[in-house]
Amino acid sequence: MTLPSTADVIVVGSGITGAATAAAAAARGASVVLIDKEEGPAREGSGRAQGSLRVQGRHGAEFPLAQEAVRLWTEAAEDGDFEMVTGGNLYFRTTDEELPVLRHLVDEAHRAGLTDVELLDAERTREIIPCATGPFQGAMWSPVDAACQPEKGTAYYVERARRAGAHIAHGVKVTRLLEAGGRITGVDTTAGPVQGPAVVVGAGVWTPISPGPWASRSRSCR
Ligand SMILES: Cc1cc2nc3c(=O)[nH]c(=O)nc-3n(C[C@H](O)[C@H](O)[C@H](O)COP(=O)(O)OP(=O)(O)OC[C@H]3O[C@@H](n4cnc5c(N)ncnc54)[C@H](O)[C@@H]3O)c2cc1C
Repeated sequence: MTLPSTADVIVVGSGITGAATAAAAAARGASVVLIDKEEGPAREGSGRAQGSLRVQGRHGAEFPLAQEAVRLWTEAAEDGDFEMVTGGNLYFRTTDEELPVLRHLVDEAHRAGLTDVELLDAERTREIIPCATGPFQGAMWSPVDAACQPEKGTAYYVERARRAGAHIAHGVKVTRLLEAGGRITGVDTTAGPVQGPAVVVGAGVWTPISPGPWASRSRSCR
Protein backbone atom coordinates (compact mmCIF):
# COMPACT_ATOMS: atom_id res chain seq x y z
CA MET A 1 0.00 0.00 0.00
CA THR A 2 1.48 3.33 -1.06
CA LEU A 3 0.38 6.36 0.91
CA PRO A 4 0.62 9.97 -0.20
CA SER A 5 3.35 11.76 1.74
CA THR A 6 1.05 14.69 2.56
CA ALA A 7 -2.68 15.47 2.82
CA ASP A 8 -4.77 18.40 4.01
CA VAL A 9 -6.78 16.08 6.24
CA ILE A 10 -5.62 12.70 7.56
CA VAL A 11 -8.47 10.58 8.90
CA VAL A 12 -7.79 7.56 11.10
CA GLY A 13 -10.51 4.91 10.99
CA SER A 14 -13.02 3.90 8.34
CA GLY A 15 -15.94 3.42 10.70
CA ILE A 16 -18.86 5.80 10.29
CA THR A 17 -17.07 8.66 12.09
CA GLY A 18 -13.99 8.56 9.86
CA ALA A 19 -15.85 7.68 6.66
CA ALA A 20 -18.37 10.52 6.97
CA THR A 21 -15.60 12.97 7.95
CA ALA A 22 -13.46 11.95 4.97
CA ALA A 23 -16.41 12.24 2.58
CA ALA A 24 -17.35 15.69 3.89
CA ALA A 25 -13.78 17.05 3.84
CA ALA A 26 -13.07 15.68 0.35
CA ALA A 27 -16.36 17.10 -0.96
CA ARG A 28 -15.24 20.53 0.26
CA GLY A 29 -12.05 20.29 -1.78
CA ALA A 30 -9.52 19.07 0.81
CA SER A 31 -6.97 16.43 -0.12
CA VAL A 32 -7.84 13.55 2.21
CA VAL A 33 -6.27 10.26 3.18
CA LEU A 34 -8.45 7.78 5.09
CA ILE A 35 -6.47 5.08 6.89
CA ASP A 36 -7.76 1.91 8.57
CA LYS A 37 -5.91 -1.08 10.01
CA GLU A 38 -8.56 -3.47 8.64
CA GLU A 39 -8.89 -4.66 5.05
CA GLY A 40 -12.21 -2.86 4.50
CA PRO A 41 -14.64 -0.39 6.08
CA ALA A 42 -16.91 -0.98 9.08
CA ARG A 43 -14.97 -3.95 10.49
CA GLU A 44 -15.35 -2.78 14.10
CA GLY A 45 -18.15 -0.89 15.90
CA SER A 46 -19.81 0.40 12.75
CA GLY A 47 -20.20 -3.11 11.36
CA ARG A 48 -21.72 -4.40 14.59
CA ALA A 49 -24.30 -1.71 15.22
CA GLN A 50 -28.03 -2.36 15.04
CA GLY A 51 -28.50 0.59 12.73
CA SER A 52 -31.10 2.36 14.80
CA LEU A 53 -31.49 6.04 13.85
CA ARG A 54 -33.26 7.07 17.02
CA VAL A 55 -34.63 10.57 17.34
CA GLN A 56 -36.89 10.27 20.39
CA GLY A 57 -35.86 10.00 24.04
CA ARG A 58 -33.17 12.64 23.79
CA HIS A 59 -32.12 15.76 25.65
CA GLY A 60 -33.61 18.88 24.06
CA ALA A 61 -30.18 20.02 22.84
CA GLU A 62 -29.73 16.78 20.86
CA PHE A 63 -32.91 16.96 18.78
CA PRO A 64 -31.57 19.23 16.02
CA LEU A 65 -28.56 16.93 15.60
CA ALA A 66 -30.69 13.77 15.57
CA GLN A 67 -33.12 15.26 13.06
CA GLU A 68 -30.29 16.47 10.82
CA ALA A 69 -28.71 12.98 11.03
CA VAL A 70 -31.92 11.36 9.80
CA ARG A 71 -32.13 13.92 6.99
CA LEU A 72 -28.54 13.15 5.94
CA TRP A 73 -29.13 9.37 6.11
CA THR A 74 -32.29 9.75 4.02
CA GLU A 75 -30.34 11.69 1.40
CA ALA A 76 -27.53 9.10 1.50
CA ALA A 77 -29.94 6.16 1.15
CA GLU A 78 -31.36 7.71 -2.01
CA ASP A 79 -27.86 7.84 -3.48
CA GLY A 80 -26.34 4.64 -2.05
CA ASP A 81 -26.92 0.92 -2.26
CA PHE A 82 -28.26 0.34 1.26
CA GLU A 83 -31.65 0.09 2.84
CA MET A 84 -33.21 2.62 5.19
CA VAL A 85 -36.63 2.14 6.74
CA THR A 86 -38.67 4.73 8.62
CA GLY A 87 -40.48 2.25 10.82
CA GLY A 88 -40.67 4.23 14.06
CA ASN A 89 -39.25 3.44 17.49
CA LEU A 90 -41.02 2.15 20.57
CA TYR A 91 -39.63 2.56 24.07
CA PHE A 92 -41.46 0.10 26.33
CA ARG A 93 -42.55 1.15 29.82
CA THR A 94 -42.68 -1.58 32.46
CA THR A 95 -43.08 0.39 35.72
CA ASP A 96 -45.12 3.32 37.07
CA GLU A 97 -41.89 5.07 38.06
CA GLU A 98 -40.95 5.47 34.39
CA LEU A 99 -44.09 7.44 33.57
CA PRO A 100 -42.92 10.91 34.73
CA VAL A 101 -39.56 10.40 33.00
CA LEU A 102 -41.25 9.50 29.72
CA ARG A 103 -43.73 12.37 30.07
CA HIS A 104 -40.78 14.74 30.42
CA LEU A 105 -39.12 13.23 27.31
CA VAL A 106 -42.33 13.58 25.30
CA ASP A 107 -42.63 17.24 26.39
CA GLU A 108 -39.01 17.82 25.29
CA ALA A 109 -39.78 16.26 21.90
CA HIS A 110 -42.89 18.42 21.46
CA ARG A 111 -40.90 21.54 22.34
CA ALA A 112 -38.47 20.58 19.54
CA GLY A 113 -41.36 20.31 17.09
CA LEU A 114 -41.63 16.51 17.13
CA THR A 115 -45.32 16.51 17.91
CA ASP A 116 -45.80 12.93 16.66
CA VAL A 117 -43.97 11.55 19.69
CA GLU A 118 -46.56 10.25 22.16
CA LEU A 119 -47.20 7.98 25.13
CA LEU A 120 -49.25 4.87 24.38
CA ASP A 121 -51.12 2.55 26.72
CA ALA A 122 -50.56 -1.23 26.47
CA GLU A 123 -53.45 -1.76 24.07
CA ARG A 124 -52.23 0.82 21.54
CA THR A 125 -48.68 -0.48 21.90
CA ARG A 126 -49.92 -3.97 20.89
CA GLU A 127 -51.58 -2.48 17.82
CA ILE A 128 -48.11 -1.43 16.65
CA ILE A 129 -46.35 -4.65 17.71
CA PRO A 130 -49.03 -7.33 18.04
CA CYS A 131 -46.50 -9.99 19.06
CA ALA A 132 -45.10 -7.93 21.98
CA THR A 133 -45.02 -9.96 25.19
CA GLY A 134 -43.99 -9.31 28.76
CA PRO A 135 -45.37 -7.16 31.55
CA PHE A 136 -45.25 -3.79 29.80
CA GLN A 137 -47.71 -1.05 30.70
CA GLY A 138 -47.29 1.06 27.60
CA ALA A 139 -44.64 2.74 25.51
CA MET A 140 -43.23 5.97 24.16
CA TRP A 141 -43.69 5.97 20.39
CA SER A 142 -42.01 7.98 17.66
CA PRO A 143 -43.10 7.26 14.08
CA VAL A 144 -40.29 9.30 12.50
CA ASP A 145 -37.42 7.21 13.90
CA ALA A 146 -35.65 5.04 11.36
CA ALA A 147 -33.13 2.25 10.86
CA CYS A 148 -30.56 1.51 8.20
CA GLN A 149 -27.87 -1.05 7.36
CA PRO A 150 -24.81 0.21 9.25
CA GLU A 151 -22.14 -1.83 7.44
CA LYS A 152 -23.39 -0.94 3.97
CA GLY A 153 -24.09 2.65 5.04
CA THR A 154 -20.51 3.06 6.27
CA ALA A 155 -19.13 1.50 3.09
CA TYR A 156 -21.25 3.98 1.15
CA TYR A 157 -19.57 6.93 2.91
CA VAL A 158 -16.11 5.46 2.18
CA GLU A 159 -17.09 5.18 -1.48
CA ARG A 160 -18.42 8.74 -1.40
CA ALA A 161 -15.05 9.88 -0.01
CA ARG A 162 -13.26 7.95 -2.77
CA ARG A 163 -15.53 9.51 -5.43
CA ALA A 164 -14.69 12.96 -4.05
CA GLY A 165 -10.98 12.21 -4.48
CA ALA A 166 -9.94 10.83 -1.07
CA HIS A 167 -7.12 8.29 -0.94
CA ILE A 168 -8.43 5.20 0.88
CA ALA A 169 -5.81 3.07 2.63
CA HIS A 170 -7.12 -0.15 4.18
CA GLY A 171 -4.80 -2.63 5.87
CA VAL A 172 -2.59 0.18 7.20
CA LYS A 173 -2.26 0.81 10.93
CA VAL A 174 -1.56 4.23 12.37
CA THR A 175 1.14 3.72 14.98
CA ARG A 176 1.81 7.26 16.19
CA LEU A 177 0.66 10.84 15.94
CA LEU A 178 3.54 13.03 14.79
CA GLU A 179 4.07 16.36 16.47
CA ALA A 180 6.40 19.31 16.22
CA GLY A 181 6.41 22.65 17.99
CA GLY A 182 3.43 21.68 20.12
CA ARG A 183 1.24 20.81 17.13
CA ILE A 184 0.13 17.56 15.54
CA THR A 185 1.81 17.43 12.13
CA GLY A 186 0.75 14.03 10.79
CA VAL A 187 0.76 10.33 11.52
CA ASP A 188 3.21 7.47 11.31
CA THR A 189 1.84 4.22 9.92
CA THR A 190 2.87 0.69 9.03
CA ALA A 191 3.17 2.00 5.44
CA GLY A 192 5.22 5.08 6.34
CA PRO A 193 4.48 8.62 7.54
CA VAL A 194 1.90 11.07 6.21
CA GLN A 195 2.27 14.76 7.01
CA GLY A 196 -0.65 17.14 7.22
CA PRO A 197 -2.06 20.08 9.19
CA ALA A 198 -5.25 18.28 10.30
CA VAL A 199 -5.58 14.80 11.78
CA VAL A 200 -9.00 13.43 12.68
CA VAL A 201 -8.88 10.38 14.94
CA GLY A 202 -11.99 8.27 14.41
CA ALA A 203 -10.45 5.11 15.80
CA GLY A 204 -13.47 4.23 17.93
CA VAL A 205 -12.95 2.59 21.30
CA TRP A 206 -9.31 1.91 20.43
CA THR A 207 -8.44 5.61 20.63
CA PRO A 208 -5.83 5.88 23.40
CA ILE A 209 -6.83 8.29 26.14
CA SER A 210 -4.12 10.24 27.86
CA PRO A 211 -4.37 12.66 30.80
CA GLY A 212 -1.71 15.08 29.51
CA PRO A 213 -1.81 17.73 26.78
CA TRP A 214 -0.99 16.57 23.22
CA ALA A 215 2.20 18.54 23.06
CA SER A 216 3.80 16.97 26.13
CA ARG A 217 4.71 13.54 24.71
CA SER A 218 4.53 11.30 21.68
CA ARG A 219 1.41 9.24 21.24
CA SER A 220 1.66 5.56 20.42
CA CYS A 221 -1.32 3.58 19.19
CA ARG A 222 -1.44 0.07 20.57
C1 LIG B 1 -23.77 -4.24 19.13
C2 LIG B 1 -23.80 -2.75 18.86
C3 LIG B 1 -25.01 -2.15 18.51
C4 LIG B 1 -25.06 -0.76 18.24
N1 LIG B 1 -26.23 -0.23 17.83
C5 LIG B 1 -26.29 1.08 17.53
C6 LIG B 1 -27.48 1.67 17.03
O1 LIG B 1 -28.48 1.00 16.84
N2 LIG B 1 -27.48 3.00 16.74
C7 LIG B 1 -26.37 3.78 16.92
O2 LIG B 1 -26.39 4.98 16.64
N3 LIG B 1 -25.21 3.22 17.41
C8 LIG B 1 -25.16 1.92 17.70
N4 LIG B 1 -23.98 1.39 18.17
C9 LIG B 1 -22.83 2.27 18.35
C10 LIG B 1 -22.16 2.54 17.01
O3 LIG B 1 -21.91 1.32 16.36
C11 LIG B 1 -20.86 3.26 17.25
O4 LIG B 1 -21.09 4.41 18.03
C12 LIG B 1 -20.21 3.70 15.94
O5 LIG B 1 -20.19 2.64 15.01
C13 LIG B 1 -18.79 4.15 16.21
O6 LIG B 1 -18.23 4.48 14.96
P1 LIG B 1 -16.72 4.95 14.89
O7 LIG B 1 -16.44 5.23 13.46
O8 LIG B 1 -16.48 6.02 15.88
O9 LIG B 1 -15.90 3.66 15.39
P2 LIG B 1 -15.63 2.23 14.64
O10 LIG B 1 -16.74 1.86 13.73
O11 LIG B 1 -15.28 1.30 15.72
O12 LIG B 1 -14.41 2.59 13.72
C14 LIG B 1 -13.11 2.76 14.23
C15 LIG B 1 -12.18 2.33 13.12
O13 LIG B 1 -10.85 2.73 13.45
C16 LIG B 1 -9.98 1.71 13.04
N5 LIG B 1 -8.75 1.82 13.84
C17 LIG B 1 -8.61 1.72 15.18
N6 LIG B 1 -7.33 1.92 15.53
C18 LIG B 1 -6.65 2.14 14.38
C19 LIG B 1 -5.27 2.42 14.07
N7 LIG B 1 -4.35 2.50 15.04
N8 LIG B 1 -4.92 2.58 12.78
C20 LIG B 1 -5.85 2.51 11.79
N9 LIG B 1 -7.15 2.25 12.03
C21 LIG B 1 -7.54 2.09 13.29
C22 LIG B 1 -10.75 0.42 13.31
O14 LIG B 1 -10.24 -0.66 12.53
C23 LIG B 1 -12.15 0.83 12.92
O15 LIG B 1 -12.45 0.53 11.56
C24 LIG B 1 -23.88 0.03 18.38
C25 LIG B 1 -22.67 -0.60 18.72
C26 LIG B 1 -22.61 -1.97 18.95
C27 LIG B 1 -21.26 -2.60 19.30
